[in-house]
Amino acid sequence: MIFLLSVLSLLVCQAVLSPISNDAIFQYVDDHKDEFVQRLKDWVAVESDSSDPTKRDLVNNMMQITKDFILKLGGSVEMAEVGEQELQSGKKIPLPPVILAEIGNDTNKPTVCFYGHVDVQPANKADGWLTEPYTLVEKDGNLYGRGSSDDKGQVLALLHAVEAVNTIGLPVNVKFIIEGMEEVGSNGLDKLVEEKKDTFLSNVDYIVVTDTPWLSKKPGITYGARGNCYFFIEVQGARRDLHSGGFGGTVYEAMSDLIYLLDTLVDAKGHIRIPGIYDGVVPLTEKEIKLYKDLEFKLDELQADTGVTRFLHDTKEELLMYRWRYPSLSIHGIEGAFSGSGTKTVIPAKVIGKFSIRQVPNMNPSVVEKQVVDYLESKFSERKSPNKMKVSMIIGAKPWLADMNEPQYVAARKAVKRVFNTDADMIRAGGTIPIAKNFEEVLKKSVMLLGIGGPDDAPHGQNEKISMYNYIEGTKLYASFLQELASQKAP
Ligand code: MN
Ligand code: MN
Repeated sequence: MIFLLSVLSLLVCQAVLSPISNDAIFQYVDDHKDEFVQRLKDWVAVESDSSDPTKRDLVNNMMQITKDFILKLGGSVEMAEVGEQELQSGKKIPLPPVILAEIGNDTNKPTVCFYGHVDVQPANKADGWLTEPYTLVEKDGNLYGRGSSDDKGQVLALLHAVEAVNTIGLPVNVKFIIEGMEEVGSNGLDKLVEEKKDTFLSNVDYIVVTDTPWLSKKPGITYGARGNCYFFIEVQGARRDLHSGGFGGTVYEAMSDLIYLLDTLVDAKGHIRIPGIYDGVVPLTEKEIKLYKDLEFKLDELQADTGVTRFLHDTKEELLMYRWRYPSLSIHGIEGAFSGSGTKTVIPAKVIGKFSIRQVPNMNPSVVEKQVVDYLESKFSERKSPNKMKVSMIIGAKPWLADMNEPQYVAARKAVKRVFNTDADMIRAGGTIPIAKNFEEVLKKSVMLLGIGGPDDAPHGQNEKISMYNYIEGTKLYASFLQELASQKAP
């Protein structure tokens, strides 16, 4: 009896002491599953394709629907105007407003600001969709539809998590930045973040981007992304295109010059030949190697998925390191070159070669620019061609890397453990996420990418989907994260 009593009192004590009670919240999520799926269905049905100006009203509708839902959750919402977009025709149309919203403003609680977007990539059934892209279809445990994963599903999972946690009271203040122009470059957002840094964003302690996939079926927390330096090499030969019958063998051809230059950039093993390019790369540590060993990732699955017969690297560790923590150079295309079907005996007068370098910490885009320009100019002068050559850097987006010991990372890892009973994969993006770097630079606050997309969701492709598992358990992940974050020491 005494034993029983002490066990009981221990249980009672624990219940009182533990600041986290997830069971009721998880139950709430499970109980509302159908409703959550129905809402995603409603959202996917809005063709909020930001790339098509004729669909701007639909993007605006989507912003309104999002606003209404946040209001329903008890939040306050400002629709921030961010100016106009100039179309190719010269006509100007208003950009969709950006949602700035908040739920809770208790100065004793930390404030976390979530970022997401509700615009989508274009989608047409004719592109090879098996279902109507704007009709959410449930099949084999997946929810198919444009935006289901990128990013309507992730935004909704977050909002539903807030709804669920709010049934017992939010332990943190929550803010949202939700935009409708992400897929075409987040027009106006940088300026807005800068403008709002001393007002709406002044009390934000953490920024969480909810727009990323996991590496596998295991939840992943993203702490870094590569940057991107995009270059054009323009070679101008004759004043106009020439006929190879009349001029082949008599002129220095712009296309030959360009192909020669492109071929000097990277060797067959993927090694970049530009002198000094690897100088800034952060050296690899033993601790980091360990992180890669623990990641759930299978080379043969990637092989099967892509149809690549042999990668440049033989182990998952190496492959992921070359995707995430080393720079790479890719050649993308040649503007002005003949690319139609059939035969055409043209000597193009002007061609523009396009390539980019994904750079990594601590490479600096302006240093990379100088290295690339110097190298290509020296290679071109060796060739002694009379043609005109010009190299320009069109994009210089910086890489981003966070300290994964920051409190919100600790909270996210605990939340993963609690919901999925496994350790989170600590991952990086091989691509570029300018918003992460921008938030960090402007607000000087901890930034984390905690998405719930699956590795095979095909976000920009045909048959985009999110699995029911990711959607529902991901909702629990966000709910649990809010709870865990409250128990972390302030940054
Ligand atoms: Mn996205
Ligand atoms: Mn996208």
